[in-house]
Amino acid sequence: MSAVLPAAGAAPVIRTVIENAYVVTVDPGGAEYERGHVVIDGAEIVAVGPGAAPGWAIDAAESAASAASPAPVLRGATTASVPTRIERVERVDGSGHLLTPGLINTHHHLYQWLTRGVAQDAILFDWLTALYPTWSRITADTVGPGALGALAVGALSGCTTMADHHYVFPRGSGDILGSIVDAASTLGMRLHATRGSMDLGASQGGLPPDFAVETTADALQASADAVARFHDPSREAMVKIAIAPCSPFSVTGDLLREAAVLARSLDGAVRLHTHGSETVEEDAYCLERFGRTPTQYLDELGWLGDDVWMAHCVHLDDAAIARFAATGTGVAHCPSSNARLSAGIAPVPQLLAAGVPVGLGVDGSASNESGQLGTELRMAVLANRLRGGASAMSGRDALYVATRGGARVLGREAELGSIEVGKLADLALWRVDGVEHAGIADPVAALTLGALPPLELLLVNGRAVVREGALVNADEGAIARGVREAVGVLRG
Ligand code: ZN
Repeated sequence: MSAVLPAAGAAPVIRTVIENAYVVTVDPGGAEYERGHVVIDGAEIVAVGPGAAPGWAIDAAESAASAASPAPVLRGATTASVPTRIERVERVDGSGHLLTPGLINTHHHLYQWLTRGVAQDAILFDWLTALYPTWSRITADTVGPGALGALAVGALSGCTTMADHHYVFPRGSGDILGSIVDAASTLGMRLHATRGSMDLGASQGGLPPDFAVETTADALQASADAVARFHDPSREAMVKIAIAPCSPFSVTGDLLREAAVLARSLDGAVRLHTHGSETVEEDAYCLERFGRTPTQYLDELGWLGDDVWMAHCVHLDDAAIARFAATGTGVAHCPSSNARLSAGIAPVPQLLAAGVPVGLGVDGSASNESGQLGTELRMAVLANRLRGGASAMSGRDALYVATRGGARVLGREAELGSIEVGKLADLALWRVDGVEHAGIADPVAALTLGALPPLELLLVNGRAVVREGALVNADEGAIARGVREAVGVLRG
C-alpha cells in the first residue's frame, strides 16, 4: 500500500464495504464468490473478490470510525490513479444475501403506467387502436406522476438503469420529456430517455390516428433539441438521450432515414431505438406496403448498426438474425409484453449464439401491468424454454441478459452491467434467507426461478436508491396518490 497525499481539492467520497454476500459478478469469466466482498469509493467499484474485504478497506473503515472528527483517509490505491479521500465508511453485512449488478431495463414506455388494465384481451394493432385516443390527451402534468410510478416499481424490483421510449407528443402537451427526466432524477435512477415520434397517421396509411402524430420536420427538430438539452456523453452520465421513431407502421421512411442521419451527425454517441418485428401483423404490413420484411426495410433505411437497438424482434428469420449479428444491432427482449399481446417468443438463444447484443425489457405498462424488471428474468427463462427446450436459457443466461447484455445494448458495457473493478457501482443486494428462499440450493435460482427476493439495497453510482425494500428519495404513498390523480385527469 503506497502512502500518497490526496490530490489538492479532491472531493471526499463515501466508501461502501459489502461483505459476506453471495456475489455474482457477471464478469466475462463468470466469477461468483460464495462469501465475497465489494468495495466502492464514491461511484466506482474499487475491489471485488472472495472472503473479507482487503485490509486497506477495513483499516480505512476503522480509522474513519474511530476519529472524533474524521480526517480524510487515504485509500491504498490498487487501481485509481488519483488518491481518494474517504469522508466516511458504510459497512454492509451481506450475510444471507445475493449481490448482483443492478438490472438494466432496455425498453419501457413509462407514461403507460397511466393506462394499465385497458384492452386486456387484444393483440397489438387492436390494443394500440384502443389506446391512442387516451394517449393523445397526455400532458407533462400527467406523464410526470405516471413516470414516477413506473420508475419506482422498476427500482423496487432491482432496476438501476431505465430506458424509456416516449413517442406520443400531443400539441400543447408541455415539457413531457423534461417531466420524465425529472422523475428519474427524483428517485436517483439512471435514465436513457429516448425522444420518440410518430409522423404516419391513418390518412397516410399508418396505424395511429392523425391527431396523435407530428410532422416529420417537427419530430426531427424536437429530437435534436432533446439531445442538446439532456444528453450527457460522460461515463458516469445519469441521463442520455436516444432518437427513436416509433415503428415501421407509425412513422414514414423519410423520418426513419433522416433520424438515423441526424443521430450519427451529433456528438456524444447518440443511439437509435425503435420497435421491430413484434408481430405477424407487422410482418404482413411491411410485406404488403414495402415488399420487404421489417428487418429488410429498416436495413435499407440505415437502421441496422451497433448504435441501434430494437424492441421485441420476435419474428426474425435466419437471414435477419445474421444481419443483426453482422451489424451489431441490439435487441430488447420483452417476454411478458410479448405474451400479454400474444406476439410470440423472440429467438433469444439463437440471437445470443450469433453474438447479437440482447438486453431485457418490461415494455410499456399498458402491455405489462407488472412493470417489475426483476420478475422478467424468470419470465425470460420460462418463455425461452417453452420455445426452445429445457436448455434454451438458464437462470444465469437471463441474469446476463438483464445486466451486462443490457449494458451492451445501451452502449455502456465499459462502465455498467457487471461487478468489476473500475466499473460504476450500480448494484442490487437481494435478501435470500427469508421464507421465500431459505434453504434454496442456488442463490441465483432464488432470483431467476423463485419469487422476486426482497431488495435490501439498490445502489446507483454508489448512492442508495432503495434501502430495506423502500425508496430512499421519495414516498411511495405520495407517488401512488399522484398516479391516481393523474389517471383521474386523463380519464376526464
Ligand atoms: Zn414498446
